[in-house]
Amino acid sequence: MTEVPATTTDSGAPVESDEHSLTAGPAGPVLLQDAYLIEQMAQFNRERIPERQPHAKGSGAFGHFEVTGDVTAYTKAALFQPGTRTEVLARFSTVAGERGSPDTWRDPRGFALKFYTSQGNYDMVGNDTPVFFVKDPMKFQHFIRSQKRRADNNLRDHDMQWDFWTLSPETAHQVTWLMGDRGIPRTWRHMNGYSSHTYMWINDQGQRSWVKYHFKTDQGIECFTQDEADQMASVDTDYHTRDLFEHIRDGEYPSWTMFVQVMPYEDAAAYRFNPFDLTKIWPHGDYPLIEVGRLTLDRNPTDHHAAIEQAAFQPNNFVPGIGPSPDRMLLARLFAYADAHRYRIGANYQQLPVNAPAVPVHSYSKDGAMAYRKVADPVYAPNSKDGPAADSSASGPLPSWEVSGEITRAAYVDHPEDDDWSQAGTLVREVMNDDARTRLVDNVVGHLLNGVSEPVLQRAFAYWANIDPEVGRRIREGVQAKAGEKDPKADQQANSARTAMQHKA
Ligand code: NDP
Repeated sequence: MTEVPATTTDSGAPVESDEHSLTAGPAGPVLLQDAYLIEQMAQFNRERIPERQPHAKGSGAFGHFEVTGDVTAYTKAALFQPGTRTEVLARFSTVAGERGSPDTWRDPRGFALKFYTSQGNYDMVGNDTPVFFVKDPMKFQHFIRSQKRRADNNLRDHDMQWDFWTLSPETAHQVTWLMGDRGIPRTWRHMNGYSSHTYMWINDQGQRSWVKYHFKTDQGIECFTQDEADQMASVDTDYHTRDLFEHIRDGEYPSWTMFVQVMPYEDAAAYRFNPFDLTKIWPHGDYPLIEVGRLTLDRNPTDHHAAIEQAAFQPNNFVPGIGPSPDRMLLARLFAYADAHRYRIGANYQQLPVNAPAVPVHSYSKDGAMAYRKVADPVYAPNSKDGPAADSSASGPLPSWEVSGEITRAAYVDHPEDDDWSQAGTLVREVMNDDARTRLVDNVVGHLLNGVSEPVLQRAFAYWANIDPEVGRRIREGVQAKAGEKDPKADQQANSARTAMQHKA
């Protein structure tokens, strides 16, 4: 038998027993002086931290990113310089489900990366889709609540999902994507990752560009059909978690090739779509993919809680050469993520090993619960006592853009081809083939038949007819045939709902 260490209390003292509590005689009461028993019970009560809201269910792994291309013309960020290798943490997740929910539910997947760069941490909080449901952060909380659970019966509810979607035409592109084949990846290894947001890159001459990131899976895209996913959910709720862990454990390391689309700074104002609208992609024909490097995951966490549950990704972790863009969703997330970590993990979450940067920290933050990093005097700036002093030559030019106008609450300024339906229509007509379109129709019909009430149903038919008239017709007929109640007034109602929606868009 191998020699095992003796159990200790959390303070390191040896304990007498892993099995028996301290009692006053074999039949007597359990004694309060059993410090080890009390430590076990008290710690157990505090094992869970609040789960993420959303993206609660997920897992991840460590690895590295190696630059294989040359994007020095666009960014001076150290992690993207030719040949550079940077340690990385990746976390994948579903969005709406709670921590124990099935990995194979139809949902976008989170694709979050933390690069431990030589200039501090750089985080990308992306998804496996290039777009999102809404474009203004004011609607984000409402959107997520519509995906979570009802107040009365605590059940998820397709009626409230379609109610929100059909009253928010900007969701059309992401909903089309979600209801298509890619709405359920076969594994996390078989899906792409996208920044979705637009970022600013700055080169060493101070020139600015707008960029979107694409991480294309080297394993190839593979998806589950709805039936396969339902079957898997009943067999193994943790299928994606298990798949990633076991492949890395067995030395089959998944990788992704990173590309960027680069838009010259000056193009943005006159581009045919608003390039900062998170519900739109930039067509590859306009901005082709440029190779940057390869992300490889090759190390499993040894403690899921310490490395994954307490991992704190935050899109406001920028490094010199990378900054935000006028994308309103991104700008709101720059606040929201760090705020969530302070609530969920605690004020000093960045001192935990998984979140700590690979470079020394010289900030003036101090104290707070669980403070671990040593703080030295002076504790204020400016000072004449040799404390850290900001150096703008190290941080480089401020990522900035011109703004003007009155303070207002308004939609984005329209660009010539901005609308909510076109890119969703392109996806249906030009990217999907006949079989994929049929699966899309079947998926939507199945979803709508699951508790969606009038008049939301009529609005859903109109929504799909706006995306593509033929697909809209097939969805309406599919629902009516399966519901067995073909309503003679349905065409008329769908047409009037469609006209109303077009006016709204
Ligand atoms: P392209 O023909 O150049 O690109 C089409 C893209 O669609 C490819 O990236 C492909 O990914 C992806 N794709 C293939 N099947 C599906 C599916 N079932 N669901 C979602 N995406 C799929 O055309 P454009 O760049 O002009 O874009 C046309 C449409 O493609 C867009 O309206 C958008 O809906 C979708 N799309 C566009 C992306 C972009 O950034 N331009 C990215 C992803 C989707 P792959 O190459 O990996 O097979």
